[in-house]
Amino acid sequence: SPIPDYLAEALSHVVSNTSGAPAGYIPELATADPRCLAAVFATVDGEVYGAGDVDAPFTIQSISKPFVYALALADRGFDAVLDKVGVEPSGEAFNEISLEDGTGRPLNPMINAGAITAHSLTGAEGIDPAGRMARVVGGLSAFAGRRLETDESVWASEMEHAHRNLAIGHMLRSHDILTDDPHTVVEGYIRQCSLLVSARDLAVMAATLANGGVNPCSGERVVLAPVVRQVLSVMSTCGMYDAAGDWATQVGIPAKSGVAGGLIGALPGQIGIATFSPRLDPHGNSVRGVSLFERFSSDMGLHLMEVP
Ligand code: GLN
Repeated sequence: SPIPDYLAEALSHVVSNTSGAPAGYIPELATADPRCLAAVFATVDGEVYGAGDVDAPFTIQSISKPFVYALALADRGFDAVLDKVGVEPSGEAFNEISLEDGTGRPLNPMINAGAITAHSLTGAEGIDPAGRMARVVGGLSAFAGRRLETDESVWASEMEHAHRNLAIGHMLRSHDILTDDPHTVVEGYIRQCSLLVSARDLAVMAATLANGGVNPCSGERVVLAPVVRQVLSVMSTCGMYDAAGDWATQVGIPAKSGVAGGLIGALPGQIGIATFSPRLDPHGNSVRGVSLFERFSSDMGLHLMEVP
């Protein structure tokens, strides 16, 4: 296949771009090797092609959000989830302390407030925190087709500086959006963000969305097609935070970024794409990741709004 050569060539175009910086607000993330660079394509037929550091481990961070939202929809149903988390883009940063006027509902599941709430809605109603965590780790592992594990030092490092997410948790509790102890829920959310993945894992996870909820490598159905439609819709409007409009016009692929430097895109019926490069732009999106996706989109005509 010519794809690995194409990917290697694409990496060579961005390798000299050293602008941006790894996330600093989680001290353990600031120690990431900024030279790491990878790109992987996983097709809905289960073929995986990559170039660069495709197996380098890093924490999933916010890329966990669409997948945990999918699990919440699968476990509690659309009505129960929509009751507690909206689907409107916020146009704000990922950690903005913003809730809908009146209801206190987070605007969408891609910002932290909505993601913390979605975490609380996984598993059967009344499940204990350990059971909920097992459901989240098991569910994300099924998307990846391999057992994922926590990076304990990143988790501990983020917990030590989690004042803002804890504040969001307490606000959500005050509006009865969270019904459990907010500290426990935020702890679980941060554990979810601390799962270790590689660019290869992320491409397979994205391909599972592109494939309507069936992991194309393991063959396992992880969630139903209507759940995937909901998740991809929210990724396309809210996945890149306050850069969502630029992304929608320049790249045109439902996507999600994470502060460890991962970035995924999912093209329905076609492929899952993942990139990894730790230096971030001011929105918290990977600088080289964004530029790789712009290249992929224009080289291969992947923009979803492009008329063939
Ligand atoms: N764990 C991070 C946080 O809650 C995730 C943020 C991100 O990846 N954008 O701040």
